[in-house]
Amino acid sequence: MGETYARAERAEQLVEAAEALFEAGVMSHSGHANLSARLDGGDHFLLTPGFVRGLRPGQLATVSFDGRVLDGELRSVSAEITAMHTAVYAARPHVGAIIHTHSPSATAFAVAHRPLPCRTEPMLRFGQAEEVPVVPWGPRGSDVSVRGIAEVLERRPTTAAVLLANHGLLVFGPDPAATAHLVVAIEESAEAEIAAAAIGGAVDFPPGAQEAVRAAIARAAS
Ligand SMILES: [Zn+2]
Repeated sequence: MGETYARAERAEQLVEAAEALFEAGVMSHSGHANLSARLDGGDHFLLTPGFVRGLRPGQLATVSFDGRVLDGELRSVSAEITAMHTAVYAARPHVGAIIHTHSPSATAFAVAHRPLPCRTEPMLRFGQAEEVPVVPWGPRGSDVSVRGIAEVLERRPTTAAVLLANHGLLVFGPDPAATAHLVVAIEESAEAEIAAAAIGGAVDFPPGAQEAVRAAIARAAS
């Protein structure tokens, strides 16, 4: 199990992470996102109620892994995405936080069904030392969509993010702050990839660079 935190502390961390995403300019026009953080005991988590702009800690809902709202209220839009979050927590016992956004450049890759290569320093350093894979489209929160996420996570045991085809980005990490950092690094990378395409295309790191960072991350986690 990863570290667990009391509700109040986790709620503060989630609100700060949401603010950091707006401040970094990685949100889509709609400001749509959902964020969650695992709570003590590991079988329930805090989830944003269906909006993130102006979010306050007391507005977060506590949700069990089987989708029951234990405390607080979820808008129906957020109830639909509960399964998306539980699928990641179930597949990754060390994940402490999950963030879903429609960050514009990352979403361009998701819409194009193009995996996002790891070709920038921040993406390499903030925990995604490999390409971000694409999960096939399924209606949000549906069995097809959730199964697709679980299958990709099983096939790609070290990825910390997936692109949801025709939809957006899903990133996970040890805590809300680290996860928000990775969202920003991925969005920057996607932007750089698209910009580089106009001047001949992005170029890979030298052979072995991603493997070396992945090995260091694995050592730190063990
Ligand atoms: Zn979405």
